[in-house]
Amino acid sequence: MGHRKRIVIVGGVAGGASAAAKARRMSEDAEIVLLERGNDISFANCGLPYHVGGIIPDRARLLVQSPQAMRQRFAVDVRTHSEVLRINRPQKTVVVHDKAKDRQYEQPYDVLILSPGAEPVRPPIPGADHKRVFTLRSLADMDAIKAVVDAGKGEKSSPALAAVVVGGGYIGLEMTEVLAHRGLAVSLVELEPQVMGPIDPEMATPLHEHLRQQGVDLCLSSSVTAIQEREGQLEVRLSTGRVIPCGLVILAIGVRPEARLAAEAGLTIGQRKGIVVDDHMRTSDPDIYAVGDAVEVQDLVGGFPAVIPLAGPANRQGRIAAINALGGDAVYERTQGTAICKVFDLAVGMTGLSEKALKRAGLAYEKVYVHPASHAGYYPGATQISLKLLFDPQNGKILGAQCVGAHGVDKRIDILAVAIRAGMTVYDLEKLELAYAPPFGSAKDPVNYAGFVAANTLRKEVRICHVPDMVNPGPNQLLLDVRTAPEVQQGTIPGSVHIPLDELRGRLGELPKDKEVLAFCQVGLRGYLACRILSQNGIACRNLTGGYKTYSQALGLMSGKPKILREMKEDTGQTGAEPHPTVRKSAEVVKEIDACGLQCPGPIMQLKQAMDQIQPGQAVRIFVSDPAFAADLEGWCHTTGSRLRDRQLNKGVLTAVVEKGQPAQSSAPVATSNRKTLVVFSDAFDKAMAAFIIANGAAAMGSDVTMFFTFWGLNLLRHAQPVPVRKTLIERMFGWMMPRGADKTTLSQMNLAGMGTAMIKSIMRKKNVLSLPELIVAAQKSGVRLVACTMTMDLMGLKREELLDGVEEGGVAMYLDRAGSANVNLFIG
Ligand SMILES: Cc1cc2nc3c(=O)[nH]c(=O)nc-3n(C[C@H](O)[C@H](O)[C@H](O)COP(=O)(O)OP(=O)(O)OC[C@H]3O[C@@H](n4cnc5c(N)ncnc54)[C@H](O)[C@@H]3O)c2cc1C
Repeated sequence: MGHRKRIVIVGGVAGGASAAAKARRMSEDAEIVLLERGNDISFANCGLPYHVGGIIPDRARLLVQSPQAMRQRFAVDVRTHSEVLRINRPQKTVVVHDKAKDRQYEQPYDVLILSPGAEPVRPPIPGADHKRVFTLRSLADMDAIKAVVDAGKGEKSSPALAAVVVGGGYIGLEMTEVLAHRGLAVSLVELEPQVMGPIDPEMATPLHEHLRQQGVDLCLSSSVTAIQEREGQLEVRLSTGRVIPCGLVILAIGVRPEARLAAEAGLTIGQRKGIVVDDHMRTSDPDIYAVGDAVEVQDLVGGFPAVIPLAGPANRQGRIAAINALGGDAVYERTQGTAICKVFDLAVGMTGLSEKALKRAGLAYEKVYVHPASHAGYYPGATQISLKLLFDPQNGKILGAQCVGAHGVDKRIDILAVAIRAGMTVYDLEKLELAYAPPFGSAKDPVNYAGFVAANTLRKEVRICHVPDMVNPGPNQLLLDVRTAPEVQQGTIPGSVHIPLDELRGRLGELPKDKEVLAFCQVGLRGYLACRILSQNGIACRNLTGGYKTYSQALGLMSGKPKILREMKEDTGQTGAEPHPTVRKSAEVVKEIDACGLQCPGPIMQLKQAMDQIQPGQAVRIFVSDPAFAADLEGWCHTTGSRLRDRQLNKGVLTAVVEKGQPAQSSAPVATSNRKTLVVFSDAFDKAMAAFIIANGAAAMGSDVTMFFTFWGLNLLRHAQPVPVRKTLIERMFGWMMPRGADKTTLSQMNLAGMGTAMIKSIMRKKNVLSLPELIVAAQKSGVRLVACTMTMDLMGLKREELLDGVEEGGVAMYLDRAGSANVNLFIG
């Protein structure tokens, strides 16, 4: 009998362990030796941050396979503490240093599989070698970091409880989250102006916003210049001059392929410094294979060499190398870089090439943005996701996708990863039939939706424009905001003209025919509808893809707060150490409430309960998905004397920090003599007339008037014409049965099958009394606030688009705040 084929594997984790197990499944005959220099094999590197954070409390869960189990089940000769020092290619041996016995020996091979991984980069800065400056790759690194964090426990507000994470890639982001989870004040320092380098900058904006909301001290465009110890604590000096005192530093600035062994053996090393392999994972020596983080792969979309250190490719390549090492013919078909990362409550995922990578490669592309709900908006818990799709402008082939959001990011990225792998086009996305029920998605899934938008663009149903076009419009271009007035009040693109979509047909004359209109709305849909109207009326038009939301993301405008924080940080610390901003915070957040999915007045009730349980000066952080809550909250704070410390809207979830005021501040506000409130419960013609006559009269006398419409009263605010909105059958039936707008209302008494109402309207005309719709317009013109009760809108299935422009949405707290400070409060029922 000839000698058994001897397969020697260097590196016993992702790629190496996969190769060993697969080789054994392929051949019971082969002799398989697995050499690992560390203490463990086959551990879950991807889980390391989560054990530090206490999310995976049981360390043993990270050990996927022990050396004993690997020996027993797979009959693999596992040798830990065994470092391969050299490869002798002519003799086909490797020189092994047995660290346990401190001896060296030569191990022969027939086939060698290298899976040595990639090593974390340690920058050459003073102090980077300090014992409390860590990188994270192995279980030992993890244990050391955890020991420091555990030891810092109980020393609240001490710098020992502060950490500086250097590098905003996925390991840096994960470490930031878990350290914050452990109660540390975390500063995240990133050289670039964005975190998560592989994605495009505008898609990172929500992450920046979210990190800051979570209290992370985000230092972008900054690098660490020195680390030093002073009186037992570390000080990290940044390129901005700022000095951050802390208890530990995590360096997560990237990894580089461990290609030394291969290079010294004369194997070909590529331009990206990884081991060069062919599509069978074979190196320049036919008896040596290499896999995982140490190798250079071909990018699936661009075809260029790339180093993409991810666990999925390492595992699959390990299997392929094992098959080929045993005489098989398995082909590795490139890497597409599908990745996902959790950043507190958000997820960010990508697949294929980013826009910046496409630009670098000189490849032609077009892009669209959509911001749909993660699942049906009417089912609780839906949040907005932002999806960017990059595709070939000629044939529509999908080139890349990026997605950020609180829910449903993973499945959209995975669908698009499959689509890219299958060579699909945006037209194919339109056809995808995806699983749908309200808790999971939408009948038009965000992926379909992105396909529709992209394919419409390629079919030239609508021409699109991008943020740079809006920032620098030409002299023959006009920016047109087609959103409603309240949306515009929240911010718009400088220099734009405002015509709400629903008024556009009637106001076409206001638009110059000789200019190209660059239309925009909030997320792109109404802008598209506007373009359809304009182009069919002979006006050249383009729609801003992704709307004002994408514009805000691209300009980093998601909220004013981060900018203030950033300015503050840049201004400080030129000379000395600054305490971490989280430590400096005046109001301590002692409670968090997740009120997502609750409708008005649920969130405000929960907030009240929590505030009752805390002390003045302490704060509550609340997360809410009900859109009316923002308006409610201001009123509630005003009424209760609480202070709104922070308010950020992100992906449909409003996060607010509310500080409890001193008892003296909490007294009800003094009634303001010129404020009037009316609750309009009824849609009866006569009652509505009375309500609007009083409101107009009061406004004319200089009063600040708010009309709060609830139940049937809401019908007064409906558009006269049907508005295309998505509704359930029951909502639709309800809509048919209710009067559509003020003109369709009838008398509460003596209606006489419509005759009574017609008579009174005719008398009113004769006596020159304004009609009800005219009274409504007059009220709006004189500044009367018309507020639709969101809770009853939801009950009656009324959508925002069905209500008149300028109507605000609000909840009970908003009404009570206004009523509390009014001297007249009427109920029209
Ligand atoms: C903290 C962390 C989190 C991660 N999270 C994710 C994630 O969420 N998703 C994802 O896709 N990827 C993630 N990764 C990356 C993923 O773990 C790697 O892509 C994957 O482990 C690479 O596999 P590999 O076999 O090439 O290298 P490794 O798994 O690193 O294994 C290489 C092994 O080789 C050993 N070795 C090196 N040289 C020698 C030698 N000369 N002699 C003997 N032994 C040697 C090393 O000790 C090491 O144990 C994460 C990595 C880390 C560190």
